[in-house]
Amino acid sequence: MKRYIINGSVCLQNEVKKIDIEITDEVISALGQKLPRQSDAEVIDAAGLTIIPGIVDFHTHLEEKGQYFDQSDTYKSGTKLAIQNGITTVNAFIVQNFNQSLSQAISAVADQADNNSYCDYRWHLTPTRFSDINFYDISKWIEKGFKTFKFYTTYKTANLYLSYDKINEIVRRLKKFEPQIIIHCEDEAILSQMGRSVNYRDITQFPKIHTEEAELNAVEKIIGLCQNIQTPIHIAHLTSADAIGQIELAKRDCPITSETTPHYVFFNDEKFLGERGAHYLTTPPLRSEDCRKLMEIKTSMGYPEVLCSNHRAFSDTAYQAASSDFRNIPSGMPALGALFPMFYDLLVGKYKWDLPRLMNSLSFNPANLAQIYPRKGVISVGSDADLVIFNPNGKTRTIPSSYTQNVNIWEEYSTNVEIKEVLLRGNTVVKNGNLIDENICQGKPLCITST
Ligand SMILES: [Zn+2]
Repeated sequence: MKRYIINGSVCLQNEVKKIDIEITDEVISALGQKLPRQSDAEVIDAAGLTIIPGIVDFHTHLEEKGQYFDQSDTYKSGTKLAIQNGITTVNAFIVQNFNQSLSQAISAVADQADNNSYCDYRWHLTPTRFSDINFYDISKWIEKGFKTFKFYTTYKTANLYLSYDKINEIVRRLKKFEPQIIIHCEDEAILSQMGRSVNYRDITQFPKIHTEEAELNAVEKIIGLCQNIQTPIHIAHLTSADAIGQIELAKRDCPITSETTPHYVFFNDEKFLGERGAHYLTTPPLRSEDCRKLMEIKTSMGYPEVLCSNHRAFSDTAYQAASSDFRNIPSGMPALGALFPMFYDLLVGKYKWDLPRLMNSLSFNPANLAQIYPRKGVISVGSDADLVIFNPNGKTRTIPSSYTQNVNIWEEYSTNVEIKEVLLRGNTVVKNGNLIDENICQGKPLCITST
């Protein structure tokens, strides 16, 4: 079946053009002015509206179990918010627990997502065992599309910590499979040293452990590793302009990339002082206003090249149950609803970016890193018809946080970015900001999950 979107301004990779889009089944089959069509073809009139490629969120936490608190957003509730706000693909996480094989870890998460996702999805894999037989196992999963891996330089208690030497060894062994490596950078030695002298009952002390120096130090070590091994490494959720600066310099001689999230660009550490301070705890933490301002400036200059949500939601009850010791407060903040409208308003609105530049950071670059480009991340012939039709000057609305929280950390913001229609692989799934049918979850995995 063919569908046409006509009269809209279409955001291609380098320009916005008034052209028609022809969709055949799930993919874009033609682009151009006044495409010929049969009289009975289905037509969407997008006059006065803008069409962008569906957003690829490179960093989404859904339905993960925690040490103290489970995350409140399921695949269903999280991807509902995502697709209503223009995100058509999420990159979530699978962590191998100490009592699981990699296959068990993958099938447990695949079951959670199966028929429960409103957008397409894939995963970054965190294996935690590395014997020869484990590497063999990993290589089998790489063949099925698990080509992105996340490792941590910290989180000993969660069994995620790896020394720089160990990361070096793992990345060298994975190199031949051409993976994309992602690293959470905070230097464990600095964190544990800083942790000795703080009052854990005072949440404002949290950034005194998770300092900018701890981040920068780990970033520098990972840059060194990337320079030696020459395998693509992506640094997760950067919070400081200094670290971003080091990465920009390193790009001259190694394949390193990075990302930031709305939290570090819009919020500062004064959020900890409010009555809802605990809701703003995340790792690495919010920084001073001076630091936030520099993050805004770096972001406005196009660094880092990926903008993602790092969405992680917990129920209001989880915050009420958390003890006053900040080590027991759930860490993470929602942003699936904020990612597109907040960065649109900042970068296109305030900093006058053209739209293709924004979509490079939200769709093309993350799709490229996830190795799903050109199927995802771009409006081009042959790509999946994941399309977002929106009005940048629509009705004013609030920025939503999560369907599983009453507290909205974004409540002080509003936007005129009005999502009119979202197509997932050619099918309209969202109309006027709402799901057409809550009962139909059309999202599919982009990795093969059967053994
Ligand atoms: Zn994360």
